[in-house]
Amino acid sequence: MMKLDIQMFAVPQHKVSKTRKRKRRSHNAMDLPGTTKCKNCGEVIKPHRVCPKCGSYKGETVVEPKEAE
Ligand SMILES: [Zn+2]
Repeated sequence: MMKLDIQMFAVPQHKVSKTRKRKRRSHNAMDLPGTTKCKNCGEVIKPHRVCPKCGSYKGETVVEPKEAE
């Protein structure tokens, strides 16, 4: 208990409403670590790299995107 430096108390379940609980948890979703989204197409890509899907970097098309066929 003291190792975590927090104390856990029993909290009555009804004190936190469903709405409050859900609002709090609305920020809990995590993005994949070490990734960012392409500003052009919204694809999940690695940061500081040209988007492999649309070939854009910093909002400019720098290489022609490869055809997916
Ligand atoms: Zn893209």
